[in-house]
Amino acid sequence: MSSQTQSEAFESGSDFFDTHIAQLNRAMDKVKPPEHVRLILAEPKNEIIVNFPVMMDNGKYKLFTGYRIQHNNIMGPYKGGIRFHHDVTLGEVKALAAIMTYKCALLEVPFGGAKGGVTIYRHQHSDAEIQRVTRRFTHDLGNNIGPDYDIPAPDVGTNSQVMVWMMDTFMNMHNQSDKNAQRRVVTGKSLASGGSRGREKATGQGVVYAIQEWADENGFRIDGSTFALQGFGNVGSHAASILSKLGATLVAVNDHTGSVKNMEGINVRKLSEHCRSEGGVAGYPGAEDCSKMEFWSSECDIMIPAALELQIDAEVASVMNCKLVVEGANGPTTLDGEQVMIDRGIDCIPDLMANAGGVVVSYFEWVQNKRSEAWQLQEIDERLHFMMRRAYHEMRAFAREHECDNRTAAYAVAVSRINSVYNERGIFP
Ligand code: NAD
Repeated sequence: MSSQTQSEAFESGSDFFDTHIAQLNRAMDKVKPPEHVRLILAEPKNEIIVNFPVMMDNGKYKLFTGYRIQHNNIMGPYKGGIRFHHDVTLGEVKALAAIMTYKCALLEVPFGGAKGGVTIYRHQHSDAEIQRVTRRFTHDLGNNIGPDYDIPAPDVGTNSQVMVWMMDTFMNMHNQSDKNAQRRVVTGKSLASGGSRGREKATGQGVVYAIQEWADENGFRIDGSTFALQGFGNVGSHAASILSKLGATLVAVNDHTGSVKNMEGINVRKLSEHCRSEGGVAGYPGAEDCSKMEFWSSECDIMIPAALELQIDAEVASVMNCKLVVEGANGPTTLDGEQVMIDRGIDCIPDLMANAGGVVVSYFEWVQNKRSEAWQLQEIDERLHFMMRRAYHEMRAFAREHECDNRTAAYAVAVSRINSVYNERGIFP
């Protein structure tokens, strides 16, 4: 089957999944793995869907749908976040799970790829309701997750508290004599409950390490530069605070509440305080509210999408006024958007590379739990920096050698690694 027909055959009805497959196929055309490897990687191994009832604070029951998609585990246990968001669909979680497989392979993290989610209006629920949703979802996933089998982590709408509830529920469902060993069933836990130093900021820190490599390669100075952010949650806010400490200035932010802009600079600490009290960036007194298109067209050196997928389409890409897009979010750029960026000479550090810091430090957390160790922050940052730098240069070397874009190169490095394992192990039976 030609790659054209093959990609058509895999169309799923989900724009995000189809975008992922089209991006993957470009790398497949470079690496040229055997047909059966292409087929295996084109769909997840397991798709678990659970419908479960949860009592609301008013005593009434609501039925929720939850997903855990296990894309591939040839490189190690399934690994990937849990998303609580009203737009969660099977297609979205499938794409996110697949991206995890390639991200781990690119970074040489010995995990496979998975992702989960619950379709829920996160902001409409109390903490008590979220706790019940988390515990019932974890219960219904049962043995489909496990410390050496499939290890969830935080994603959009979930955090260290949600991970601790998942861990506690899982521990209470399993062998009491071996409770401590169950801690690593999730990563991204709070420090007190077995988390790792540096995990909270890890994805944002990794975004900044990736920017530093790009800056060194391009003779660009971060000190004195400007950046804009979509999403001011875990990834966006930490990236912003680390970049501002390096002397860069935040000039515009968009989130689910609106957009704000101040070309003189937005104080990251004050914006964080505003978001904590008001629930989002809208109305921040240190900047002016603006439209979403004004946000995207803000003049800046670096644009960091750190919210949801498929945000930078052709229209957005044609008004962007930056040198570099760094994908803190997974899948933020559409195929058309990417082509416009390439045509306009806007560089891109793709999601597989840019936001890998989270899974790298999740891996460190899992190893620390397994060995009953607690590493110091400096050691964690150094190890993370090393792995980000190594992957960045492997991606760039492939891109130069094969004259392709960074995304194709990042996927290709990952596919080559996975392909060599399939070649050595063969397919059972
Ligand atoms: P989060 O829940 O902490 O923050 C999400 C942010 O996105 C919030 O600021 C929210 O306001 C904003 N947002 C939501 N809907 C939006 C919309 N329609 N328009 C604009 N902004 C919107 O989530 P996070 O953990 O920071 O994740 C953000 C992205 O980074 C996701 O794509 C996620 O998959 C990816 N990512 C997260 C991690 C991690 O460790 N948390 C790791 C790798 C990748």
